[in-house]
Amino acid sequence: MTYIPTELRRLVVERTGGCCEYCRIQITDRLPPFEIDHIIAEKHGGHTTAGNLWVTCYRCNGFKGSDIASADPETERATFLFHPRKQRWDDHFRLVGAVIEPLSPEGRVTASLLRFNALIHVAQREALIKEGRYPCQPAG
Ligand SMILES: [Zn+2]
Repeated sequence: MTYIPTELRRLVVERTGGCCEYCRIQITDRLPPFEIDHIIAEKHGGHTTAGNLWVTCYRCNGFKGSDIASADPETERATFLFHPRKQRWDDHFRLVGAVIEPLSPEGRVTASLLRFNALIHVAQREALIKEGRYPCQPAG
């Protein structure tokens, strides 16, 4: 694992408002709370820079791993994953109750690969919605 300087880690966390940049859960609502990882993995040429680092809950990061693309479940075409530094979440996903509905090919591959709508994840979001703790509102 690459060393990420403290100031860069702080910048990456603060700009998200403490939200997982994929599933929009408050990072403190999962244990372990969060990870900072490379959007484009180093093995694919990604760098340890603010533009290539993201805040993720451990579940999203665990399913994403070093992947940068996957087969679109609708078209079977190779498609890049949603890129939280270059794309807007609302352009690729929408919430329907506790379900994260994809709106684009990038949204479909990301929701599928990261298992956004696995029953356990939907159930957790439903519980958090009832408590007024979901969705997390990202900064800026
Ligand atoms: Zn997540």
